[in-house]
Amino acid sequence: MEFKNKVVVITGASRGIGEATARHFASLGAHVFLAARSAGRIGEIATALSSQGASAHAIACDVSDPAQVSRLVSTATDKTGRLDLMVNNAGVIDPIARLADSDPLEWARVVDINLKGVYHGLRYAIPAMVAQGGGTIVNISSGAATSALEGWSHYCATKAAVLSLTRVADREYRGDGLRVIGLSPGTVATRMQEQIRASGINPVSQLDWSAHIPAEWVAQAIAWLTTEEADPHLGSDFSLKSSEGRRAVGLPQI
Ligand code: NAP
Repeated sequence: MEFKNKVVVITGASRGIGEATARHFASLGAHVFLAARSAGRIGEIATALSSQGASAHAIACDVSDPAQVSRLVSTATDKTGRLDLMVNNAGVIDPIARLADSDPLEWARVVDINLKGVYHGLRYAIPAMVAQGGGTIVNISSGAATSALEGWSHYCATKAAVLSLTRVADREYRGDGLRVIGLSPGTVATRMQEQIRASGINPVSQLDWSAHIPAEWVAQAIAWLTTEEADPHLGSDFSLKSSEGRRAVGLPQI
Protein backbone atom coordinates (compact mmCIF):
# COMPACT_ATOMS: atom_id res chain seq x y z
CA MET A 1 0.00 0.00 0.00
CA GLU A 2 1.30 3.43 -0.97
CA PHE A 3 0.81 6.20 1.57
CA LYS A 4 3.89 8.28 0.81
CA ASN A 5 2.99 11.93 1.48
CA LYS A 6 -0.67 11.12 2.16
CA VAL A 7 -2.12 13.07 5.08
CA VAL A 8 -3.77 11.13 7.89
CA VAL A 9 -5.51 12.55 10.98
CA ILE A 10 -6.24 10.13 13.84
CA THR A 11 -8.27 11.01 16.93
CA GLY A 12 -7.68 9.08 20.15
CA ALA A 13 -4.05 8.51 19.16
CA SER A 14 -2.53 8.57 22.65
CA ARG A 15 -2.85 4.79 23.14
CA GLY A 16 -4.59 1.63 21.92
CA ILE A 17 -6.01 1.48 18.40
CA GLY A 18 -5.30 5.14 17.63
CA GLU A 19 -1.63 4.94 18.62
CA ALA A 20 -1.15 1.73 16.61
CA THR A 21 -2.83 3.38 13.61
CA ALA A 22 -0.57 6.43 13.82
CA ARG A 23 2.53 4.21 14.03
CA HIS A 24 1.33 2.06 11.09
CA PHE A 25 0.63 4.98 8.74
CA ALA A 26 3.89 6.70 9.75
CA SER A 27 5.73 3.49 8.80
CA LEU A 28 3.99 3.62 5.40
CA GLY A 29 5.33 7.12 4.73
CA ALA A 30 2.24 9.22 5.51
CA HIS A 31 2.18 12.57 7.30
CA VAL A 32 0.36 11.65 10.51
CA PHE A 33 -1.45 14.03 12.86
CA LEU A 34 -2.07 12.51 16.28
CA ALA A 35 -4.92 13.97 18.33
CA ALA A 36 -6.00 13.26 21.92
CA ARG A 37 -6.46 15.10 25.21
CA SER A 38 -3.17 13.73 26.64
CA ALA A 39 -0.90 16.29 25.00
CA GLY A 40 2.25 14.93 26.67
CA ARG A 41 1.68 11.38 25.49
CA ILE A 42 0.90 12.20 21.82
CA GLY A 43 3.90 14.55 21.88
CA GLU A 44 6.14 11.68 23.01
CA ILE A 45 4.81 9.35 20.28
CA ALA A 46 5.21 12.02 17.57
CA THR A 47 8.75 12.83 18.74
CA ALA A 48 9.70 9.14 18.72
CA LEU A 49 8.25 8.67 15.21
CA SER A 50 9.96 11.82 13.92
CA SER A 51 13.32 10.63 15.30
CA GLN A 52 12.87 7.55 13.09
CA GLY A 53 12.42 9.78 10.03
CA ALA A 54 8.62 9.90 9.97
CA SER A 55 6.46 13.01 9.56
CA ALA A 56 4.41 13.02 12.78
CA HIS A 57 2.64 15.89 14.53
CA ALA A 58 0.82 15.99 17.86
CA ILE A 59 -2.22 18.23 18.30
CA ALA A 60 -4.01 18.33 21.65
CA CYS A 61 -7.72 17.98 20.96
CA ASP A 62 -10.85 17.09 22.89
CA VAL A 63 -13.20 15.77 20.20
CA SER A 64 -16.28 16.83 22.17
CA ASP A 65 -15.40 20.47 21.39
CA PRO A 66 -16.17 21.43 17.76
CA ALA A 67 -13.71 24.36 17.84
CA GLN A 68 -10.84 22.02 18.77
CA VAL A 69 -11.72 19.53 16.00
CA SER A 70 -12.00 22.37 13.50
CA ARG A 71 -8.52 23.53 14.57
CA LEU A 72 -7.16 19.97 14.31
CA VAL A 73 -8.31 19.60 10.69
CA SER A 74 -7.23 23.11 9.66
CA THR A 75 -3.77 22.62 11.23
CA ALA A 76 -3.29 19.47 9.13
CA THR A 77 -4.57 21.05 5.91
CA ASP A 78 -2.68 24.35 6.45
CA LYS A 79 0.57 22.45 6.97
CA THR A 80 0.23 19.96 4.11
CA GLY A 81 -2.43 21.32 1.75
CA ARG A 82 -4.64 18.23 1.97
CA LEU A 83 -6.39 15.56 4.04
CA ASP A 84 -6.52 12.03 2.67
CA LEU A 85 -7.72 9.98 5.64
CA MET A 86 -9.62 10.98 8.78
CA VAL A 87 -9.86 8.26 11.43
CA ASN A 88 -12.60 9.08 13.94
CA ASN A 89 -11.35 6.70 16.61
CA ALA A 90 -11.57 8.54 19.98
CA GLY A 91 -14.06 6.84 22.26
CA VAL A 92 -14.82 5.91 25.87
CA ILE A 93 -16.85 3.25 27.67
CA ASP A 94 -16.52 4.26 31.33
CA PRO A 95 -18.56 4.60 33.48
CA ILE A 96 -20.16 1.19 32.87
CA ALA A 97 -23.52 0.96 34.69
CA ARG A 98 -27.04 -0.38 34.22
CA LEU A 99 -29.53 2.28 33.19
CA ALA A 100 -31.09 2.82 36.63
CA ASP A 101 -27.62 3.20 38.20
CA SER A 102 -26.24 5.53 35.53
CA ASP A 103 -25.34 9.17 36.17
CA PRO A 104 -27.13 11.39 33.59
CA LEU A 105 -24.24 13.85 33.33
CA GLU A 106 -21.64 11.10 32.81
CA TRP A 107 -23.97 9.39 30.30
CA ALA A 108 -24.26 12.66 28.38
CA ARG A 109 -20.48 13.09 28.42
CA VAL A 110 -20.15 9.75 26.58
CA VAL A 111 -22.58 11.07 23.95
CA ASP A 112 -20.40 14.19 23.65
CA ILE A 113 -17.28 12.10 22.96
CA ASN A 114 -18.47 8.96 21.15
CA LEU A 115 -21.23 10.50 19.02
CA LYS A 116 -20.68 14.25 18.81
CA GLY A 117 -16.92 13.68 18.54
CA VAL A 118 -17.45 11.63 15.36
CA TYR A 119 -19.94 14.19 14.04
CA HIS A 120 -17.32 16.93 14.60
CA GLY A 121 -14.73 14.88 12.72
CA LEU A 122 -17.12 14.47 9.78
CA ARG A 123 -18.24 18.11 9.95
CA TYR A 124 -14.72 19.47 9.48
CA ALA A 125 -13.07 16.74 7.38
CA ILE A 126 -15.83 16.62 4.74
CA PRO A 127 -15.41 20.20 3.38
CA ALA A 128 -11.64 19.74 3.08
CA MET A 129 -12.10 16.46 1.21
CA VAL A 130 -14.90 17.75 -1.03
CA ALA A 131 -12.67 20.72 -1.98
CA GLN A 132 -9.85 18.37 -3.08
CA GLY A 133 -12.21 15.92 -4.82
CA GLY A 134 -11.91 12.91 -2.51
CA GLY A 135 -10.73 11.26 0.67
CA THR A 136 -11.58 8.47 3.08
CA ILE A 137 -13.20 8.76 6.52
CA VAL A 138 -13.14 5.73 8.82
CA ASN A 139 -15.44 5.82 11.85
CA ILE A 140 -14.48 3.28 14.51
CA SER A 141 -17.63 1.40 15.38
CA SER A 142 -18.32 -1.71 17.44
CA GLY A 143 -20.48 -4.81 17.50
CA ALA A 144 -22.33 -2.81 20.18
CA ALA A 145 -23.79 -0.67 17.35
CA THR A 146 -26.17 -3.53 16.55
CA SER A 147 -26.39 -5.52 19.79
CA ALA A 148 -27.56 -4.98 23.38
CA LEU A 149 -25.10 -5.43 26.24
CA GLU A 150 -25.89 -4.92 29.92
CA GLY A 151 -24.26 -1.86 31.45
CA TRP A 152 -23.40 -0.40 28.06
CA SER A 153 -26.52 1.68 27.23
CA HIS A 154 -24.38 4.78 26.58
CA TYR A 155 -21.90 2.82 24.45
CA CYS A 156 -24.48 0.79 22.45
CA ALA A 157 -26.61 3.89 21.79
CA THR A 158 -23.68 6.05 20.69
CA LYS A 159 -22.12 3.39 18.47
CA ALA A 160 -25.53 2.75 16.83
CA ALA A 161 -25.75 6.49 16.17
CA VAL A 162 -22.22 6.50 14.71
CA LEU A 163 -23.27 3.75 12.29
CA SER A 164 -26.19 5.98 11.29
CA LEU A 165 -23.78 8.89 10.70
CA THR A 166 -21.62 6.63 8.52
CA ARG A 167 -24.68 5.75 6.41
CA VAL A 168 -25.84 9.35 6.04
CA ALA A 169 -22.36 10.73 5.28
CA ASP A 170 -21.95 8.08 2.57
CA ARG A 171 -25.37 8.96 1.12
CA GLU A 172 -24.59 12.68 1.07
CA TYR A 173 -20.97 12.69 -0.16
CA ARG A 174 -20.19 9.54 -2.17
CA GLY A 175 -21.01 11.57 -5.28
CA ASP A 176 -18.24 14.03 -4.31
CA GLY A 177 -15.65 11.26 -4.28
CA LEU A 178 -15.70 10.68 -0.51
CA ARG A 179 -15.43 7.19 0.93
CA VAL A 180 -17.05 6.92 4.37
CA ILE A 181 -16.89 3.57 6.11
CA GLY A 182 -17.26 2.15 9.62
CA LEU A 183 -14.96 -0.43 11.19
CA SER A 184 -16.17 -2.86 13.82
CA PRO A 185 -12.93 -4.38 15.08
CA GLY A 186 -14.18 -7.10 17.47
CA THR A 187 -12.49 -7.07 20.87
CA VAL A 188 -9.05 -5.48 20.97
CA ALA A 189 -6.36 -5.70 23.69
CA THR A 190 -6.40 -2.07 24.87
CA ARG A 191 -7.11 -0.10 28.05
CA MET A 192 -10.80 -0.11 27.12
CA GLN A 193 -10.89 -3.91 27.52
CA GLU A 194 -9.15 -3.54 30.91
CA GLN A 195 -11.99 -1.22 31.98
CA ILE A 196 -14.58 -3.68 30.63
CA ARG A 197 -12.94 -6.56 32.50
CA ALA A 198 -12.87 -4.56 35.75
CA SER A 199 -16.65 -3.93 35.48
CA GLY A 200 -17.48 -7.66 35.53
CA ILE A 201 -20.96 -6.76 34.31
CA ASN A 202 -21.58 -8.69 31.06
CA PRO A 203 -20.14 -11.58 29.01
CA VAL A 204 -17.53 -9.36 27.29
CA SER A 205 -15.99 -8.65 30.72
CA GLN A 206 -15.51 -12.41 31.21
CA LEU A 207 -13.55 -13.00 28.00
CA ASP A 208 -10.06 -14.42 28.31
CA TRP A 209 -7.46 -11.78 27.40
CA SER A 210 -6.21 -14.08 24.61
CA ALA A 211 -9.57 -13.58 22.82
CA HIS A 212 -8.68 -9.95 22.06
CA ILE A 213 -6.85 -9.05 18.85
CA PRO A 214 -3.82 -6.73 18.86
CA ALA A 215 -4.41 -3.04 18.04
CA GLU A 216 -1.91 -3.41 15.17
CA TRP A 217 -4.39 -5.64 13.30
CA VAL A 218 -6.97 -2.88 13.45
CA ALA A 219 -4.43 -0.43 12.04
CA GLN A 220 -3.80 -2.84 9.17
CA ALA A 221 -7.56 -3.08 8.56
CA ILE A 222 -7.87 0.73 8.43
CA ALA A 223 -5.16 0.84 5.76
CA TRP A 224 -7.07 -1.81 3.77
CA LEU A 225 -10.28 0.21 4.06
CA THR A 226 -8.62 3.02 2.09
CA THR A 227 -8.29 0.71 -0.94
CA GLU A 228 -10.79 0.05 -3.74
CA GLU A 229 -11.14 -3.53 -2.52
CA ALA A 230 -13.15 -2.16 0.42
CA ASP A 231 -15.57 -0.17 -1.78
CA PRO A 232 -18.43 -2.72 -1.43
CA HIS A 233 -18.48 -1.84 2.30
CA LEU A 234 -18.81 1.95 1.92
CA GLY A 235 -21.61 3.40 4.03
CA SER A 236 -21.64 0.40 6.39
CA ASP A 237 -19.65 -1.18 9.21
CA PHE A 238 -16.96 -3.58 8.01
CA SER A 239 -16.44 -6.28 10.66
CA LEU A 240 -13.15 -7.90 11.61
CA LYS A 241 -15.00 -10.54 13.60
CA SER A 242 -15.91 -12.63 10.56
CA SER A 243 -13.38 -14.92 8.92
CA GLU A 244 -14.22 -13.30 5.54
CA GLY A 245 -13.36 -9.87 6.97
CA ARG A 246 -10.03 -11.01 8.36
CA ARG A 247 -9.19 -12.86 5.16
CA ALA A 248 -9.91 -9.76 3.06
CA VAL A 249 -7.52 -7.69 5.18
CA GLY A 250 -4.88 -10.43 5.22
CA LEU A 251 -5.08 -11.06 8.97
CA PRO A 252 -4.65 -14.45 10.64
CA GLN A 253 -7.78 -16.49 11.34
CA ILE A 254 -8.49 -17.40 14.96
P1 NAP B 1 -8.34 3.22 24.62
O1 NAP B 1 -7.05 2.49 24.63
O2 NAP B 1 -9.04 3.50 25.89
O3 NAP B 1 -8.09 4.58 23.81
C1 NAP B 1 -9.09 5.56 23.69
C2 NAP B 1 -8.48 6.78 23.02
O4 NAP B 1 -9.52 7.78 22.89
C3 NAP B 1 -7.35 7.40 23.82
O5 NAP B 1 -6.32 7.78 22.95
C4 NAP B 1 -8.00 8.62 24.46
O6 NAP B 1 -7.03 9.65 24.63
C5 NAP B 1 -9.00 9.00 23.37
N1 NAP B 1 -10.07 9.88 23.86
C6 NAP B 1 -10.99 9.63 24.83
N2 NAP B 1 -11.76 10.70 25.02
C7 NAP B 1 -11.33 11.66 24.15
C8 NAP B 1 -11.72 12.99 23.86
N3 NAP B 1 -12.73 13.57 24.52
N4 NAP B 1 -11.05 13.67 22.91
C9 NAP B 1 -10.02 13.10 22.25
N5 NAP B 1 -9.60 11.86 22.47
C10 NAP B 1 -10.24 11.14 23.42
O7 NAP B 1 -9.41 2.46 23.73
P2 NAP B 1 -9.35 1.73 22.30
O8 NAP B 1 -9.77 0.33 22.52
O9 NAP B 1 -8.08 2.02 21.59
O10 NAP B 1 -10.58 2.47 21.59
C11 NAP B 1 -10.48 3.19 20.39
C12 NAP B 1 -11.81 3.11 19.65
O11 NAP B 1 -12.09 1.73 19.33
C13 NAP B 1 -13.01 3.59 20.47
O12 NAP B 1 -13.88 4.32 19.64
C14 NAP B 1 -13.68 2.31 20.91
O13 NAP B 1 -15.03 2.49 21.17
C15 NAP B 1 -13.41 1.43 19.72
N6 NAP B 1 -13.52 -0.01 19.98
C16 NAP B 1 -12.69 -0.62 20.84
C17 NAP B 1 -12.84 -1.98 21.06
C18 NAP B 1 -11.95 -2.75 22.02
O14 NAP B 1 -12.21 -3.94 22.25
N7 NAP B 1 -10.89 -2.14 22.55
C19 NAP B 1 -13.84 -2.72 20.39
C20 NAP B 1 -14.67 -2.05 19.51
C21 NAP B 1 -14.50 -0.69 19.29
P3 NAP B 1 -7.02 10.74 25.81
O15 NAP B 1 -7.59 10.07 27.03
O16 NAP B 1 -5.59 11.10 25.89
O17 NAP B 1 -7.88 11.86 25.29
